[in-house]
Amino acid sequence: MKDLKHLYYFENLLMDADNELVRQAQADGRICVGSVCYQIPEVLMNLGNAFTVRLRAPRTGSMEMGTYYLTSLLCEYSRALLERAIEGGYQFLDCLMAPDGCTMINRCVENMELLKINEKEHFFYKYLEVPMKADDNGLNLYVSQCKEKILTPLHEKFGIDISDEALRKSVEEHNKICRIITELGNFRKEEKPRITGYEFHIITMCTYVCPQDLLLEKLEETLEEVKNRQPDEKWPYRARVAVVGSEIDDIDMIKLIEDSGAYVCADRFCFGSLPGREEIILNDDEDVLTQICRHYMMTCMCPRHMDTPKMNRRREYVDEIAKKYKADGIIYEQMKFCDPWAYERMVGSHVLREEYGYPVLTIDRPYAVGNSGQIRTRVQAFVESIEIKKIQGGIKSGESNWKLSTREAL
Ligand code: SF4
Repeated sequence: MKDLKHLYYFENLLMDADNELVRQAQADGRICVGSVCYQIPEVLMNLGNAFTVRLRAPRTGSMEMGTYYLTSLLCEYSRALLERAIEGGYQFLDCLMAPDGCTMINRCVENMELLKINEKEHFFYKYLEVPMKADDNGLNLYVSQCKEKILTPLHEKFGIDISDEALRKSVEEHNKICRIITELGNFRKEEKPRITGYEFHIITMCTYVCPQDLLLEKLEETLEEVKNRQPDEKWPYRARVAVVGSEIDDIDMIKLIEDSGAYVCADRFCFGSLPGREEIILNDDEDVLTQICRHYMMTCMCPRHMDTPKMNRRREYVDEIAKKYKADGIIYEQMKFCDPWAYERMVGSHVLREEYGYPVLTIDRPYAVGNSGQIRTRVQAFVESIEIKKIQGGIKSGESNWKLSTREAL
């Protein structure tokens, strides 16, 4: 397929946390709010003059300092972020909001605060208590935390408008981005998709780490371009997979999977589109903040939610997206030492294999995958196993009516 006109531009935006659009917005006097998790509603930080970026540590090499403070038993995402913070890589932020989603990220941000990594005069940190159960009590807690820890400080420190009108406007802008990403993502359902999983991942990630309004024009152009794009006559992939699991912001990860022969047709990981880029639908009957919080609480697929309905729902959701996007198999990944996803991967991959009948490859991976030969070999073997089953007539794309354990497959 012909290269997307703006792909190089999007890739470049992901080379640095302090990217071109962040710098442009700050030069215009805008406030940059750092965040580290889906559980801090983006729309509450993309208000008025403020914009949010999800923290990444692109091109991470050594994590010695991060490991010194956090120990080698904490996930590599948290260590990479702390390392970059100590190097001075997040000086551009005006404040940083973190949830107690998992202890790892909490300790990471607490260490940033203790080490006083940001020298800006008005810089502040906020830690939100987020619900573990998606019920009425959880929602009450969430609403009060979002009000107290996000909206009030943004208003008091930076004079940001936090009225209902401002919240509604933010949701409207957010929905514009979601519609584009959803439309682009829908092309992945095609038999020969006109967008690669890698391209889609790059574009989606940009929407998390740039001021979204400054990205809109190029996103719209890209959508038009993809609509008119012709897929290659010869389809270069041998299988379709849904990638599920913990945080992925490494641009090499999806590339490596696709280079190994598996088209990534659906994503369920942090910094992905499912459920991160779904529209927020508001009604006129209820308080706007409550509606926003409910949306995030109910759509959240993080293992931080530990009630049984949520746990079951996580597996049903993977089954739903695998069917919708016609996946032949599932790659269940987990960042090394990520505790919440370690438990979820173990149980989730078993359930998806044994109860739903999918071929599942489980991977324990570093934060920066690079060109890992080991992961490449495992994905290639997984693709071959899917091919063999297809030849034997045991699998049709999007159907989960057969069983194969990874052990059998590999
Ligand atoms: S990767 Fe896992 S442990 Fe690390 S911040 Fe995310 S949920 Fe927490």
